[in-house]
Amino acid sequence: MTFKIYYFLPFVFILMMFDTLDGQSNDQFLSFADSIHNHWHYVKEEKLQHKFFREKDITTLLKSYESLSMIHFDTLGFSVEGRPIHIIKFGQGDIPVAMWTQMHGNEPTATMAVMDMLRFFADDDPFLSEWKSNIYQRISLYIIPMLNPDGAEVFKRRNALDIDLNRDALRLESPESQLLKMVIDSIRPRFGFNLHDQSDYYTAGDVDIPATIAFLAPAYDEDKSINDSRANAMRLIVQLNEIVQQYLPGAVGRFSDTFEPRAFGDNIQKWGTSTILIESGAYKGDLHKQTQRQLHFTMLLAALQSIASKSYLIEGLRPYEDIPYNNRRGHDLIVRNLDLIVSGDTIRLDVAYQKDEVRIEQPPHYFQRFFISDMGDLSTMYGFIEVDAEGWTYSSGKLLKDKWKSLLDMNIAAIIQQGYSHVLVKRLPPEHKIQGLPLQFLLHERDFNNDIKMGLNPGIILTHDGDNRRVFINNGQFLNLAEDDIQHLEKLTIADLFD
Ligand SMILES: [Zn+2]
Repeated sequence: MTFKIYYFLPFVFILMMFDTLDGQSNDQFLSFADSIHNHWHYVKEEKLQHKFFREKDITTLLKSYESLSMIHFDTLGFSVEGRPIHIIKFGQGDIPVAMWTQMHGNEPTATMAVMDMLRFFADDDPFLSEWKSNIYQRISLYIIPMLNPDGAEVFKRRNALDIDLNRDALRLESPESQLLKMVIDSIRPRFGFNLHDQSDYYTAGDVDIPATIAFLAPAYDEDKSINDSRANAMRLIVQLNEIVQQYLPGAVGRFSDTFEPRAFGDNIQKWGTSTILIESGAYKGDLHKQTQRQLHFTMLLAALQSIASKSYLIEGLRPYEDIPYNNRRGHDLIVRNLDLIVSGDTIRLDVAYQKDEVRIEQPPHYFQRFFISDMGDLSTMYGFIEVDAEGWTYSSGKLLKDKWKSLLDMNIAAIIQQGYSHVLVKRLPPEHKIQGLPLQFLLHERDFNNDIKMGLNPGIILTHDGDNRRVFINNGQFLNLAEDDIQHLEKLTIADLFD
């Protein structure tokens, strides 16, 4: 916080010239943000409980605001497959601000946060009601809450034409891209918030901490020049970074600032809007990214406060440059020091797993497919889960082939304890039943492949010499069989998976 004094002093005079909402100091700004952060629990949109919602969920929620005079929404246009894309307007001030979310269909975190913001704007609780009406008078906020509803429908990045909208800012071949361009051209926002989710495997620089949030004031040319407009985006990021650091110290990265001539963020910056990219990354154990959702809620509202009061102008650019670039060092699981015998020689390997996420209908609404994402010397990498195989003996999981009827009676815990990683079945259990199970199911024996190779998902068994201790890794699930990890599987049979 020491730089604050250093940067603050030269700007006190400038600050005094501006008409501020309440002349907040930096400490006041952070404490304001903290009160917003705590308030989220009371106003969050309870109808969005997980990240696999769709356009119809958002449309239904927006309809519930129809009778409110403070919030306007309209259908901006339609996606390739004819789904509506909405625009929401809050405020009648002379500072236009735009926020757009989910340009990539499988990046939904900020959509949840802007729907939380709407709930907050619509809430008649007296908390911050004066602040809300001030913002309403100063700012005209336009929100596109899900720019790529076709992608969101099947939880994929691209639109229904399989075009990446963020590479379509110049050609504008997709209706979704045309709509965003039209909004930017017609409202000419002072600030634009380009809201995405980034890979879970980014770390906040050269550390073992995921970049839970990443920022960027995108470059508008190859030289990464800084004009006033881009500098203001950087200044506001400095403030937002300070907010996040209060809750997650060291968990903020800076997204690559290489100029991408086809991307929206880079072009909107070029067209004169101070553009801020915010990316939601991973937070350990929080699959539905509620931590990042809450942080977005706080940051976006605090940003409105800063924009309305122009308090971002007191910031220097140096603290922006000090945010470490995203690094890609993370994996879901790393098994270290695995000794593999290949043609009689011992090969020592670290083996890392990552996952693909597929949307399914039933709770838990997702299915994870794990695969080996890297192997070799992974000493510079880290895993959310780390297993050290030093001193343990590796063996490969076996395929269980039994008569269908007797198979159905088998206990999952017993199958695993007997060294099986895969089960041959007549039909596959539904995905929601096997999500999280440390077993894999195959229809054909020829599909069984437990090799430790890139892209495969082998079952690994580690035994400790001289005693009965065993560790079992399969489908990205890690079980310590010597401890209690297996007890919850003892009540489960194969037949239970078909109920
Ligand atoms: Zn994205």
